[in-house]
Amino acid sequence: MARSLVQELTDGGGRDLSATRLTEMEDEVYGLLDRLGGQMLQALLQHQAEEICEVEKCPGCGGPLEARPPQTKTLRLKRNEVCWRQPVLRCGRCRRDFFPSGEGARL
Ligand SMILES: [Zn+2]
Repeated sequence: MARSLVQELTDGGGRDLSATRLTEMEDEVYGLLDRLGGQMLQALLQHQAEEICEVEKCPGCGGPLEARPPQTKTLRLKRNEVCWRQPVLRCGRCRRDFFPSGEGARL
């Protein structure tokens, strides 16, 4: 994994690093890791949102819920900002929207 990221930073090993300072390398490495971390978090949150959407019964009347378009929120994390698509479920009988909570929603 680290090797393929180094390939990414050095244009496949072809980049001349002789004039690059250590602090610049450090900035590039952590910049890349932050971008990757953001993408990974986003993928994990999406995965979690899909699991949350498997809740199918209304907590009020026990009736069926239908999925509504998710609400997009930006979450500010310690090192990153990620886009979180909050799942929204609607009960037709109660005419209420529910926001099933998961780890992401608790942030
Ligand atoms: Zn209901």
